Amino acid sequence: MGKIISICNQKGGVGKTTTCVNLSAALGILENKVLVIDTDPQANASVSFGFSSRRINNPALQFMDFVAVIKNNVIKTNSPNVDLLPFFEDLNFFKRTSEESKFKQALETISKLYDFIIIDCVPFFKTKNLDILISSDSVIIPVQCDYYALEGLHTFLKTIRYVQKNLNRNLEIEGFLLTMFDRRLNLSKQVVSYVRSYFKELVFNAVIHRNSKITQAPSFGKSIMEYDISSSGARYYLQLASEILVRNAKAEGLKEVSVIPEQKESIFNTRRFFKTLDPEERNNTLLEKFLKKSEANYENEKSPFIKNFDALIDLTKPYVEQIMGICYKNHFGNIWIYKINKSKIFKKKYLYIYFKDDIVSHYATKWFMN
Ligand code: ADP
Ligand code: MG
Repeated sequence: MGKIISICNQKGGVGKTTTCVNLSAALGILENKVLVIDTDPQANASVSFGFSSRRINNPALQFMDFVAVIKNNVIKTNSPNVDLLPFFEDLNFFKRTSEESKFKQALETISKLYDFIIIDCVPFFKTKNLDILISSDSVIIPVQCDYYALEGLHTFLKTIRYVQKNLNRNLEIEGFLLTMFDRRLNLSKQVVSYVRSYFKELVFNAVIHRNSKITQAPSFGKSIMEYDISSSGARYYLQLASEILVRNAKAEGLKEVSVIPEQKESIFNTRRFFKTLDPEERNNTLLEKFLKKSEANYENEKSPFIKNFDALIDLTKPYVEQIMGICYKNHFGNIWIYKINKSKIFKKKYLYIYFKDDIVSHYATKWFMN
């Protein structure tokens, strides 16, 4: 069963939609199947993925089978592994017909098809949001690092406690997420230290800094992962995603999860890879083994691009880093991802390198629509 996480805060403009879209895209990149549900009539999340709100073809459906309605109207986005249920003007999940909301029942069924369902909420606290909280396993609360950030937060928390006590005992706080942090502002730092001292381990380690690429991405109908995977904005959300994966894996007693710690360099580095093919670098003994193995393969190719990565097998992390470029270097992460080329017009190729005991055990290449 996938985990149902809603992104809520009674305030508008704190980064709910931005977090919904980019966290989902990051979870998708890290190989989780994600469904994004847009419940906001402004349809910002849908637009951020390049879609608008829709009218469903058969409104009568809404009185019958929500699961079918969701299944029939889910769209594949351009983000790897991310589906979207856009905002539907005429689909009312939220008319309560029985004690248990139909939304909740439908979500429980749909969650079997996904690893995560991420719900974008409307700002003002309406019955709709209450239904979403009742239907969720956990809630992420974005807190903008500014003066008014804390205003209303306590009231909102009271509501969450009320839901936990009376309506949904299983609702957890996944975490408070500090957004739009600006390291130049003292105020930003003060908000961070206040929120951390007050909510302690409930606050994510990952902090989303203010980043112009994050602002630009939606106008291209792309998540930050598609817009600029090497931006720091993408890195913040990859860090958040891996933190959530680690926390949830711990809760389930699982061991192997990829961690993306803070690091300046991009995880996606193609140029270095080409550089290693330069004959002048061949006397570099560290690269010798790699080039020898891949040479035959390389010479058969018209494009100067190695399609077979067998030479990576059994290499250690520093070795892979030498060849492929820096990849959010860390000693815990067991999956490293590189975006490797654009040789097909509408598709991007990703290389996943899997480590076992810090040695490459296998790899996979995947095409995703651009
Ligand atoms: P909400 O859904 O809570 O109303 P949004 O996610 O729509 O908030 O964010 C409000 C505005 O702030 C948007 O214009 C968005 O592009 C911008 N924004 C959000 N997060 C960031 C960030 N980390 N850096 C820069 N701009 C951001
Ligand atoms: Mg929004």
